[in-house]
Amino acid sequence: MRKFERKEVPEVLSKTVEGKPRWEWFGERYAQNRAQNPAFTFQWPQIEGKKLNQHLLPDLMEMTESHCSYCDDYPFHRGGDSIDHFYPKSLPAFYGLVCDWRNLYIACKHCQEAKGNQHEPDLLRPDEVAFEFKKYFIYDFIQHRLLPNPQALEEEKVKAEVTIRVLDLNYPGMCTSRRHAFQRFMRDDNPFLSDYNFRFMFDD
Ligand SMILES: [Zn+2]
Repeated sequence: MRKFERKEVPEVLSKTVEGKPRWEWFGERYAQNRAQNPAFTFQWPQIEGKKLNQHLLPDLMEMTESHCSYCDDYPFHRGGDSIDHFYPKSLPAFYGLVCDWRNLYIACKHCQEAKGNQHEPDLLRPDEVAFEFKKYFIYDFIQHRLLPNPQALEEEKVKAEVTIRVLDLNYPGMCTSRRHAFQRFMRDDNPFLSDYNFRFMFDD
């Protein structure tokens, strides 16, 4: 997980519709649909001939330089560039946030599947003002694993542990990918950071 700064709410979501921001209006409509039909599944609404997710992807991608918001993998595999709802859209408490800008993260297939419908209050968000990779994690360059920062406060360590567990950030395939990224970076005479995955390894 690497820090990024969230851009302002795009106009496509903030625009007023029937006296409220459009994202709120979509959330209410989704909640109503689910209440009437529990099997109702969320579809991105169409706006001006384009699905809402297609409107949002460019801004979401720009914020992370097209890296996964959670694990920082890059590039996305074909068709894998989809939007994760931090507060799951399948849980009634969060129906209203289904189009809330702050709830939307571009995420890889692995992270989306690992996280699934889980909601853990301690899960870290990479765009939180107080978030810093080094505050919560240390990087083990031998095993290429993330570990909670032993210097952190207890509550911060819990957040790091929960984040590693919920997003399954140390699964063997990912550790191997990190090892390869590290080796490539070390051999690269003039590395351009944005071209690498798992950039937190290389940040000062
Ligand atoms: Zn990921």
